[in-house]
Amino acid sequence: MHRDRVEAILQALRTAYPGARSRLHYNNAYQLLVAAILSAQTTDEQVNKVTPGLFQRYPTAADLAAATPAEVSAQIKSLGLFRQKSAHLVAACRILLEKHNGRVPDSFEELVALPGVGRKVANVVLSNIFGRDVIAVDTHVFRVANRLGLARAGNVRETEEQLMAVLPPGSRREAHHLLIYHGREVCRARQPRCLECQVRSYCENGCQE
Ligand code: SF4
Repeated sequence: MHRDRVEAILQALRTAYPGARSRLHYNNAYQLLVAAILSAQTTDEQVNKVTPGLFQRYPTAADLAAATPAEVSAQIKSLGLFRQKSAHLVAACRILLEKHNGRVPDSFEELVALPGVGRKVANVVLSNIFGRDVIAVDTHVFRVANRLGLARAGNVRETEEQLMAVLPPGSRREAHHLLIYHGREVCRARQPRCLECQVRSYCENGCQE
C-alpha cells in the first residue's frame, strides 16, 4: 500500500479519535501486564472493574506470587476464564520474582515465556510501557486493518508482520489504539456502521460510496 494512503487513513482516524489510548487502567508495568493477561476474551471495562480490588490486595508481583490461584480466583471471578487466568497470573509473577527481580522484562522473548502472555500482550506491554515501536494485533486491529487493506492476511501473525511493514516508523502504537477505537465504535464485526465511517473511501470491504 502506498505510504500516502496509509498516512491518509491514519490522519482520518486521528481526527476521529483524538487522544486514543489504552482503556485498561494501570499505573505501572506490573499492573498493565496483569490487566492485559486478564483482558483475554473479556472487555477492558470488565477488567477495569476487578483490577482496583486486585491491585489493592496484591500491590506488587511479589504479593501476587505469594497468593494461591484459588485466592486470586475469588478476586476475578466475574471474568471469563477466571480460573485459568488466576493460575497464569500467579505463575507469571513467580517467574518475575525468580528470573527478573520482580520486574516486568522488556524483551519480547522473555515476555512471551510468561504464562498467559502471547504476542498481543507482549506487544501491548512493550509499546505502552517501554515505548517500543511495535503493534499489538487484537481482534479489532485484525479486522479493521484487513478491511482497510492495511493488511491482507488470514491470521493475526501475518497481519502484525504486514502492519509492521506498511505503518510508518513511530506510528505503530498510535495505530494500534486508533484501529481499536475504530473497531469498537464504527467498524464493528457485525453490522459495521459504514455510513458513519470516516475512512470508508479507503475501505476494501465493499463499503465504498
Ligand atoms: S466502510 Fe465499513 S467495513 Fe469499511 S472500514 Fe468503514 S466501517 Fe469498516
